[in-house]
Amino acid sequence: METKEYKDFSWDFHAKLGHKPIVAQIELTYRCPLHCAHCYTDCYNNRESLKDEMMADQVKAILDKCQRAGVVWLCFTGGDPMMRYDFSELYLYAKSCGFIVSVFTSLAALTEDIFETFKQNPPFNIETTLNAGESASYKEITKTDFFQRQVDNIKRIKESGLDIRVKTQVTKQNVLEIDKIKELVERLGFEFRPSTILFARLNSDTAPCKLRLEPKDAIRVNKTYGFYDPETETPGVKSKIDDMAAESSDNLFSCAVGGHSFHVSVKGEMFLCSCLRNPNYDLLSKGATVNQGFFSLNQEVRAMRFNTDSLCRSCQYRLICKWCPGRAVLETGSMEEPIDYFCQLTQEFL
Ligand code: SF4
Ligand code: SF4
Ligand code: SF4
Repeated sequence: METKEYKDFSWDFHAKLGHKPIVAQIELTYRCPLHCAHCYTDCYNNRESLKDEMMADQVKAILDKCQRAGVVWLCFTGGDPMMRYDFSELYLYAKSCGFIVSVFTSLAALTEDIFETFKQNPPFNIETTLNAGESASYKEITKTDFFQRQVDNIKRIKESGLDIRVKTQVTKQNVLEIDKIKELVERLGFEFRPSTILFARLNSDTAPCKLRLEPKDAIRVNKTYGFYDPETETPGVKSKIDDMAAESSDNLFSCAVGGHSFHVSVKGEMFLCSCLRNPNYDLLSKGATVNQGFFSLNQEVRAMRFNTDSLCRSCQYRLICKWCPGRAVLETGSMEEPIDYFCQLTQEFL
């Protein structure tokens, strides 16, 4: 039998499928043990938000719908999905549906029960974010004392042979200790994967944006630590700018929104972009299906055009800029409004 590396399987599979919903990201809760200053969901990280969360049978009903639609990859995210007392039950249900399951988590709420569940039924991968190299700065960033707990749980997961990836969000709060974080991440046995992109919170609070690095520092961090986005930050960039100038488009979205993937909120609303929560489709309503929601949302989103004289509409740098309608709507209230910071970042990059 012919065997393939996972990345080749994944690539071929996506290419053959055409336009179908095969990747789902489900927010199980907005709650999280940490309160990261840059977090875009932390505005709802409170007990109050519990009342909005789906019950276990509602999550399972959505998983059934995903299975019927042929979804292959499923990610549980949050907040931190492990904050739900029924996390193991929902995780095992997703596994029993046959999905390739990933979990995005702080690992600060990992219990013995969840750890044993993972050991018996491994997820495809676990992803966590480690943003500090020592407990004092960790406390400043997350407003908690869970530094050692998170580090120990990362070690524990790795030593048990489960697939885990560690990312780092670089902000004004931790940029001065970036080498210390890199050293810790590498000592734990991982590649250092920093990101410098921040956006406003889901309630449009722009506090996280104030933590963005100065554009020149963001470029320096990306260049020095080598986690460049190959789509926009390679020598191909020049031809992208030329293409953009040649075929300026009024399409609001120039990203891959809705191509194969969709998101589901804690309330069971389906949407295509994690930043853009309208339009959405109620997956819990009677008769609702993943395909119906996915294709109607795609139709709506793909038909969106610039309606204003926004600078972004005719900007020759749009394809390489970190601006997008999702980030714009969170930060400015308008899907078309430029974001000064991204203009500066683009200029700094050129
Ligand atoms: S760990 Fe993630 S979900 Fe939790 S507060 Fe931090 S950024 Fe938000
Ligand atoms: S944010 Fe600025 S650089 Fe980016 S596309 Fe809009 S106008 Fe162009
Ligand atoms: S966040 Fe921006 S780039 Fe990502 S899917 Fe939404 S609109 Fe596209």
